[in-house]
Amino acid sequence: MKTALSSFRKEAARLDRADPLKNFRRRFFIPSGTTYLDGNSLGLLSRDSQASLEKVLKSWKILGIRGWLDADPPWFYLAERLGARCAALVGAEPDEVILSGTTTVNIHALVNTFYQPSGTRTKIVADELDFPTDIYALKSALKLRGLDPAEHLILVCSRDGLTLDERDIVSRFDDSVALVFLPSVLYRSGQLLDMEFLTLEAQARGIPIGFDCSHSAGAVPHELDRWAVDFAVWCSYKYLNGGPGATAFFYVNRRHFGAEPALAGWFGSAKDKQFDMSLHFEPAPDAGRWQISSPSILNAAPLIGSLAIFEEAGMAAVREKSLGMTRFLMDMVDRFLSAEPYGFSIGTPREDKRRGGHVALIHPEGMRISEALRNRNVIPDFRPPDIIRIAPVALYNTYMELWRLARHLQEIIDGREYERFDRARKLIS
Ligand SMILES: *Cc1c(COP(=O)(O)O)cnc(C)c1O
Repeated sequence: MKTALSSFRKEAARLDRADPLKNFRRRFFIPSGTTYLDGNSLGLLSRDSQASLEKVLKSWKILGIRGWLDADPPWFYLAERLGARCAALVGAEPDEVILSGTTTVNIHALVNTFYQPSGTRTKIVADELDFPTDIYALKSALKLRGLDPAEHLILVCSRDGLTLDERDIVSRFDDSVALVFLPSVLYRSGQLLDMEFLTLEAQARGIPIGFDCSHSAGAVPHELDRWAVDFAVWCSYKYLNGGPGATAFFYVNRRHFGAEPALAGWFGSAKDKQFDMSLHFEPAPDAGRWQISSPSILNAAPLIGSLAIFEEAGMAAVREKSLGMTRFLMDMVDRFLSAEPYGFSIGTPREDKRRGGHVALIHPEGMRISEALRNRNVIPDFRPPDIIRIAPVALYNTYMELWRLARHLQEIIDGREYERFDRARKLIS
């Protein structure tokens, strides 16, 4: 068994040598002595982001208030400019994407805009595997309208507790539904939903549809415009490497540019009118109208550098390497880590088009195994009850790191090393 895994070491080395993105790793600060495989929770800092953050700090230091117009880039237009650059990553036009706020707040702003219950069309369709914050936001949107979530929120069920069948989702699209809001990639299993199909089916029934792309932005190419998605949100601190709590992004399809934002704020004003300070809200003519507050410039600054890396690397190359890495990892697990005594299984779909950027390794001792990995300076994350998530990030991880991960997993099981860790849950894992 040991020798068998050794044979994959050569293959890992070969793949790393042939990797067209291999030079990007040097641009990132890899925590010393660490195999970092948690870029789907918090991406790493790049030298580019450090430089762009320092540049913004310097402009504040030197310019004070004048930075809003005189900094490079001017803070007053930063939300629009970064939105335009991020639009290229998600298949949108520059004026359809805006940097703003945080994901949950953006969900509130857009869901409350697009959820327009009327008559018997009152329900929202989501799913039972959703990230909790999305469900909290949907429930509060219903309660704000005096509607009971128990009756009006439809959570599509999973057949296996890990994945969703798009046909099961579509079977709930009927004339009682006023909005569909779904994830692009499920945060536990890593399943990538067929957004094009879901959008087509929702709109054929006159139902607006939005997606939370937090687990796909920066890992998977999107074609939000071609699919004609109504709106989308995503965070920028996972695969987009914007830093903890970095300012988020949202997308609104241009056919809705005339809609009234549900949560209006002065930064949604037309740029040339905002400082008239009129009590009459004159919204921006594009997606900018869904902004609420002053953009968090310091929390956005690292994205100036980070997006430059994506522009250089190209989303297609990022996706190709990401798929190659997750496939390589799944192959090793199938061959060397699934039989007894190892007992790992994979919760992520095998088909490339149904897989996001991470692999869900399932093991009944998952929690203690992930503690044992951390003890060996390998950083995965753990999602209860039994999922170890491994995110090999195209821009900074290597095939050799995945090979080493597989060897660590073998050794941890061979030596029953995980038994040394207790079963108590950590606050953040
Ligand atoms: C990470 C993530 C969020 C994060 O929300 P915040 O408001 O930034 O804390 C929301 N939804 C999904 C699906 C996520 O993966």
